[in-house]
Amino acid sequence: MKVEQYKILEKSKINDFINSLISFSKVAAPVYKGFKNYTFQEIKSADEVSLKYIPTIIPPKKYFMPQKETLLKFDVKENLKIEPTVDYENLILFGVHTCDIAGIKCLNMVLSDKPKDTGYLIRKKHITIIGLECNDYCDEYASCSFVGAHIPTTGYDLMFTELGDYFIVHIHSSKGSDIIEKTELFKPAEEFHIKELKALREKKLKIFNNEVPTERRYLPDLFDRSFNASVWKELEQRCLSCGNCTAVCPTCYCFDIKEEVDLSLEAGERYRVWFSCQLDPFAKVAGGIDFRRERSARQRHRFYRKFRYHIDRYGMVFCTGCGRCSRTCMAKINLKEVLTSLIKESETKIWRKWL
Ligand code: SF4
Ligand code: SF4
Repeated sequence: MKVEQYKILEKSKINDFINSLISFSKVAAPVYKGFKNYTFQEIKSADEVSLKYIPTIIPPKKYFMPQKETLLKFDVKENLKIEPTVDYENLILFGVHTCDIAGIKCLNMVLSDKPKDTGYLIRKKHITIIGLECNDYCDEYASCSFVGAHIPTTGYDLMFTELGDYFIVHIHSSKGSDIIEKTELFKPAEEFHIKELKALREKKLKIFNNEVPTERRYLPDLFDRSFNASVWKELEQRCLSCGNCTAVCPTCYCFDIKEEVDLSLEAGERYRVWFSCQLDPFAKVAGGIDFRRERSARQRHRFYRKFRYHIDRYGMVFCTGCGRCSRTCMAKINLKEVLTSLIKESETKIWRKWL
């Protein structure tokens, strides 16, 4: 940890800092909406921001990959005219937790892979991420330690960590450094601040325990043995196929493409909308064949997309442990419990072989 990469902001000045951001940019931050719900939304004053919050209903991925996105506009009035569109704006996201930063890192991997997602990449360039480290668990649904998303590593411009009556701020990009230079609120960090940060991270090792009874490195093996597990059949009985779990997931990126014409029937647009592998029509192909008709197959697919397939392709687990899927599920399907059941079933099978 190099001292010069850190700055100090007194806690009493955090609102001045947020208001200074609002003075030169559009800013979105977590805002309390009642009934233990939070949302990322544009703020006009620091008073609106919740510094302590459980993961927002929808993750900040909505700014990188909007729920509905116009891809092109067409017009056939005279000659066929097609105009590709990308909507973007400069935006500062303030207060992003490390789990959601991990989610954006997953999207970066997929959407900058071939074929590149131009709209996503343009928006990403215009968004500045100011992180806010969690010093404790948000609630019982989180499994961020299991997937290693509870400690800041990369993927942000500035990271704020609360240490008593001040924040220590890690400057991680030139965008972040420019923001610091715009205000006179920050002081240079000194050696003892860095020692306090190190001590906090040590303390976090005790607070954040592995929430699932296995280690991340054993996931490929576990899932290679679990394709025919009875767990999937049990989920079949409970899952309502509502798609909520995927709609709130920071690493889900599936979409559908649709077209609409206006009332003149001579112009219209092509757009994409988020789609879910848990919904009935998702796997329907030409000829009316549905290659993932059973809910058990759809649930299995969801878990393999998080914990198996992307390890082969990108060397990454595509779950950030944010807990949103479990928090939102009306059928109370809990991600940590599903993983634990898979582990138990797999271990039982191994023991039976030896007996
Ligand atoms: S939120 Fe729950 S009930 Fe709905 S599709 Fe996901 S697992 Fe099934
Ligand atoms: S699978 Fe669930 S816990 Fe994992 S990133 Fe998606 S919503 Fe969060």
